[in-house]
Amino acid sequence: MDVAGRYFDGVRPVVQEVRLRRVAQGLEIALPDGRQPVLWLYGETRIDDVGVEAHLHRVREDLDTGERLIADGVVFREIFGSVLTQFGKGRAGEASRRRVMFWSLAAVGSLLFLYFVGLAAFARLAAPLVPWSWEVALGRSVEPQVLEIFSKGKPAKTCGTEGGAGKAALEAMVARLSAGAKLPGQLRVDILDVGVTNAFALPGARIYLFRPVIEKAQDPDEVAGVLAHEIGHVIHRDSMRALVHNGALSLIISAVLGDFTGSSTIAILTNMMVGSAFSRENESEADMVSVDLMRRAGADPRAINRFFQRLASVEPGKRTIFDAFSSHPITADRIAEVEKLAGAPASATPVLDARQWQALKTICAEPNPGG
Ligand SMILES: [Zn+2]
Repeated sequence: MDVAGRYFDGVRPVVQEVRLRRVAQGLEIALPDGRQPVLWLYGETRIDDVGVEAHLHRVREDLDTGERLIADGVVFREIFGSVLTQFGKGRAGEASRRRVMFWSLAAVGSLLFLYFVGLAAFARLAAPLVPWSWEVALGRSVEPQVLEIFSKGKPAKTCGTEGGAGKAALEAMVARLSAGAKLPGQLRVDILDVGVTNAFALPGARIYLFRPVIEKAQDPDEVAGVLAHEIGHVIHRDSMRALVHNGALSLIISAVLGDFTGSSTIAILTNMMVGSAFSRENESEADMVSVDLMRRAGADPRAINRFFQRLASVEPGKRTIFDAFSSHPITADRIAEVEKLAGAPASATPVLDARQWQALKTICAEPNPGG
């Protein structure tokens, strides 16, 4: 006894009229024109549906072969009813088919995007689609290694104690700056006790200012200007954008979902993050946020320029200012742009009062039992 069916071989886009027959190992498909019949073993045959019609597909090594069969459901049940339990489980095949479909579509989509809008624009569009919880998880996984690299192998140490005056001043500064900011998540800011003038924003709204940023600043607004610039990177999710730009999207997904052993993935992501500076465009946009947040806070939006220009003059031994702030290359263009954005000088109130500023200035001298 056999039943008429429609068969897609998964290769050519044509339907073949076939006959299905039950054999000991599975289901035999008799092809037209007397060609060699095809045998689908029970274990590799998945039943998607047996209603009015029976829909089946074939899976090998848990991957969809693309082969499909459709037959009359009633006749199919008459023939195969007693052996239905021998067919493979539909769910697994369906999940794997969806996974293959998803990644194929994602790959094709990515290529089209790259072709039409370019890598930078792709990164700009894709980064916001990465769930925020992933970005937080990613930031947490790379943080210890990033800190170790910046601390040159020594144990990373942050300044200030919980409840201390220095931390309170820093928190006051963060609160005042972020009041008007559209942040994707909870901001966490710390001073890293390392003697290099730098600052960086890790994925997940995690900002570190290095000790010299506080030491070399002449007033709290200079620190705030740098901090506001970092907040700009957080708002634009620039670390995520940089990773996507560097082709790390699949690594991010494996790191977060733990698809394969994480340590090497984390190491690669860490190196990418530490080794590459943000693009000029990212820097300009972060400067724009800095000017905007400083102005909203009633502080001096030009303070960041004063800070950078002084860095250039106080570090004459360095080749250029770029070395001094390596994660955020400073250019004359950027300085000019901030000057323009800041507009006419207006009266400003420093983000911290004299007492708070003194506390922040000495935050790294506070005893820090926790390290
Ligand atoms: Zn920057």
